[in-house]
Amino acid sequence: MPAKLSPEAEAAVRARIGYFRDLGMSDFYRRAIPAGETALVTETVTEPEEAAAVETSPMRSAPSLPVIIEPSAPVKPKDRAAALQAIRDEIGDCQRCALAAGRNKLVFGDGNPNARLMFVGEGPGADEDAQGLPFVGRAGQLLNNMIAAMGLSRDQVYIANIVKCRPPQNRVPEPVEANTCSPFLFRQIDVIQPEVLVALGSTAATYLLGAKSSLSALRGRVHQASGMKLIVTYHPAYLLRDPRQKKEAWADLQIAMAELGLKGPQK
Ligand code: SF4
Repeated sequence: MPAKLSPEAEAAVRARIGYFRDLGMSDFYRRAIPAGETALVTETVTEPEEAAAVETSPMRSAPSLPVIIEPSAPVKPKDRAAALQAIRDEIGDCQRCALAAGRNKLVFGDGNPNARLMFVGEGPGADEDAQGLPFVGRAGQLLNNMIAAMGLSRDQVYIANIVKCRPPQNRVPEPVEANTCSPFLFRQIDVIQPEVLVALGSTAATYLLGAKSSLSALRGRVHQASGMKLIVTYHPAYLLRDPRQKKEAWADLQIAMAELGLKGPQK
């Protein structure tokens, strides 16, 4: 018997189906969740980005975020910019969670609607909140360098966060905040259909995978998330605090490059 969804989850499913119908998609199917897995995240992500030794916990069990509904057809490349704008329009002057109270600018996401590679971070910081763009501060500069090292430019990738408004004092988003906001991110991912997702830090990895685990347990291999390849690495803000880990992050990015067939900058 299918699991009964909470009213919030049911509303999220209805909203998501409604969105795809707006795009002209009418046929949907329910994908079975493999045994031993659950698609839902509910607990707090308590560890800081750099907590490489946190305890690995099993998947959460209480329903919150439905990720089992899939559109019957992908959005065509020529329609992706408009589809992303439709999501932005729907978000509007969002007051759906408590983070709205402290934001200056909502940070929707930025980049190429047809990107093969998409980076997902945790949430906006002070610079991002001021400019309304993701990864524009010192951590953003480092991310730009990481992207360049892969042989790409920033306008070839897409960058977004789990939450679109800055948490106070840059704290980790509460589950209710992440679960309220992340369906918009999943819709962006569905539209862009990147070949590879890179989760920057443990919060992004947790909500993209629907599972909480240590970065050390998740790094160094290819995961599957929403039908896409997912690589997990350190958040650039953490790399600024501990540059010794840059080598490890580069090893992660090389996994992504191999998946994309990238050879790095041409000399
Ligand atoms: S974080 Fe997301 S859900 Fe919360 S107010 Fe901002 S846009 Fe809305």
